[in-house]
Amino acid sequence: MKAIIVGAGPAGLAAAACLKQRGVTVTLLDRAQTIASSWRNHYDSLHLHTARGRSTLPGLSYPKGVGKYPSREQVIAYLDAYAQHHGLAPRLGCTVTAIARKGAGWCVTHSDGAEQADIVVVATSVNGRPKTPDWPGTFDGPILHSTDYRNAGPFAGRRVLVVGFGNSGGDIALDLSRAGVDVTVAVRSPVNILPKELFGVPITSFGLLTKLLGYRTADILTAPILRLKIGQAEDYGLHSMNKGPGAMVQEDGRIPMIDVGALGAIKAGRITVKPGVKALAGRTVRFDDDSAAPFDTIIAAIGYKVDLRPLLGPDCAALDPQGRPTVSGGPTAEPGLYFCSFRVSPDGQLFATSREAKAIAADVADTLPRKGRP
Ligand SMILES: Cc1cc2nc3c(=O)[nH]c(=O)nc-3n(C[C@H](O)[C@H](O)[C@H](O)COP(=O)(O)OP(=O)(O)OC[C@H]3O[C@@H](n4cnc5c(N)ncnc54)[C@H](O)[C@@H]3O)c2cc1C
Repeated sequence: MKAIIVGAGPAGLAAAACLKQRGVTVTLLDRAQTIASSWRNHYDSLHLHTARGRSTLPGLSYPKGVGKYPSREQVIAYLDAYAQHHGLAPRLGCTVTAIARKGAGWCVTHSDGAEQADIVVVATSVNGRPKTPDWPGTFDGPILHSTDYRNAGPFAGRRVLVVGFGNSGGDIALDLSRAGVDVTVAVRSPVNILPKELFGVPITSFGLLTKLLGYRTADILTAPILRLKIGQAEDYGLHSMNKGPGAMVQEDGRIPMIDVGALGAIKAGRITVKPGVKALAGRTVRFDDDSAAPFDTIIAAIGYKVDLRPLLGPDCAALDPQGRPTVSGGPTAEPGLYFCSFRVSPDGQLFATSREAKAIAADVADTLPRKGRP
């Protein structure tokens, strides 16, 4: 049996390792020139928000000496070692342009030609396509997406507006403020903010509480403790969401912000908070409360979108009308087609990736036609 896996990030590598272990012949393709390209491009100061033990992929731990929250470089080194450990040799610089059913299997068209497989795993990331801002007006300076931010160096002496206060926005604003850059965050939507740890336990470990009690009960029980630990969003000039972090993940498919210092910087006046962006004119940004301020650069930390219709076609039964997979980490409405790591999880994305990769491999071993089995 042959599998083609599209994407050699953590999800593609994990799926490849698990399928290989089940005796499936794996071809792993990635358009980048390296594996784990997204991690190589993330900002320099990035450390995992999830603890090391819950950020591994199946079959390999982090080496001794790596701290509780591995750095970006340590994650890259881990992913390189992971590919080597499992004997995975991705074909790099190979962009997949179409995936279509052909007979009982699948035809994958890519920049080197086309090839057949019994199964296809799409692991091109829930963070694959940066969203583009749609603010009215024009800005007379650079606007970059958070994916393009590396470090504070180029922003010294500049007035920077970071739009969005999710995990990337919070991290980038903090990184800039630590370097002494004049930084403002524009936050339109109500927020849910979690501390990195509670009682010395990584916050993502509390996902277990959600599983045991249900997310609504878990939210009710943890609310007073969270209030005690970080206060109210209003204390920082932000607005509290009218639902808890568990409900945010389960009902909206969004991850709460895990604070690693941005709240302290706001309180200390090193990061200014403004409401959402209303309009741009020259170097001036007007906000939803009609206040205005001049900036030299805008960093749009406004997230990503998923639309796999260009790859799978508009009629693919495994996608919803917006082109997002309806199932991630299990059998889909298209036999033999799988998606890995397209669902956000209260346990941390890498933890969920690991679980999904194992589930995909188990399903392939259990349910696909026996004729193709090795
Ligand atoms: C800033 C940031 C911090 C994060 N921190 C954490 C954390 O602390 N803990 C945690 O658990 N998770 C974290 N995540 C979430 C998640 O773990 C990572 O985004 C992870 O890299 C997702 O793995 P992936 O394999 O799904 O996607 P990616 O790592 O993005 O890999 C997808 C791959 O697919 C390739 N590709 C895409 N399209 C094609 C195509 N058409 N043809 C061929 N190849 C293609 C890309 O080149 C890429 O290499 C973080 C995410 C971000 C953005």
